[in-house]
Amino acid sequence: MTSASPDSWSLKHATSRGEAIHPNSPAGRYAPSPTGDLHLGNLRTALLAWLFARASGRAFRLRVEDLDAARVRPGMAERQQQDLAALGLTFDGEPMVQSERSAAYRQALARLADRTYECFCSRREIAEATLAPHGAPRSYPGTCRALTGSERDRRRQTRTPALRVRADGAVQTVLDELRGRVTRPVDDFVVQRNDGVTAYMLAVVVDDAAMGVDQVVRGDDLLAAAPDQAWLATVLGLPVPAYAHVPLVLNAAGGRLAKRDGAVTLTDLTAAGIGSGAVLGMLATSLGLAAPGEPVTVELLLERFDPSLLPTDPWLWDPRNGAPAQPGV
Ligand SMILES: [Zn+2]
Repeated sequence: MTSASPDSWSLKHATSRGEAIHPNSPAGRYAPSPTGDLHLGNLRTALLAWLFARASGRAFRLRVEDLDAARVRPGMAERQQQDLAALGLTFDGEPMVQSERSAAYRQALARLADRTYECFCSRREIAEATLAPHGAPRSYPGTCRALTGSERDRRRQTRTPALRVRADGAVQTVLDELRGRVTRPVDDFVVQRNDGVTAYMLAVVVDDAAMGVDQVVRGDDLLAAAPDQAWLATVLGLPVPAYAHVPLVLNAAGGRLAKRDGAVTLTDLTAAGIGSGAVLGMLATSLGLAAPGEPVTVELLLERFDPSLLPTDPWLWDPRNGAPAQPGV
């Protein structure tokens, strides 16, 4: 496989909007989408990202992932930041806002031009095609990889294409601090959606580099995306960050925690008599950093933090008693 070597172009352009937030200092980050209140799982991941960053002497930056305009709720970014502040989590510099970054994304797409192709498939078509016996469950089946010019012209009349990268059979390994080495074939993933919006995969890679993020701590539902993102960073000549994918919080039924699971946001919990200090204490208990009911601050947790001692199983949240079903597990 071929990949571009790092060069000054990419860093210079990737940081074109990031200069105001000191892109040269190594940083960790938290990057929520302002589509709803942060729930306990989000808050726990944010706390872990803060602990990982501060414990390693890094800056900690915030990014507002608001590219999916249809799902963004007005004022939600501010509410999320208030909740993070209520827990004691501090950020360096102004937040990066993805909806203000279109020039950087355009430059990255231009850089990728000879590696992208138009894809006219619907979600349903891809789902059906990947049921084929030899298709890997998540990978794009390559339907549009080799369309002729006239076929593309014909398809464009009925559907606006997305843009995919051509991975050419690349295989990528990332090193995860909690999960070890993770090796996967790189998918021909989407870098621009068919509604013209920059795809999450491209925005994350371009923005992390622009923010100086060299440590990515996030939920382990994104572990499978890490090799694709590391590969894309390399192709764009950007540094590959270190990764730590942390366990999610699950509801009593074993599913991903969601708002329907009861009082799971800071606002709801406060209304139920569990203030932000108690919530921080519960999160700390779930991470093995505090005894149940012990008053804590993020500074105290930072003194106690040791990544090698973190639990690797999901935290089970039981809303019936407003407390974790398995504290400390
Ligand atoms: Zn396609």
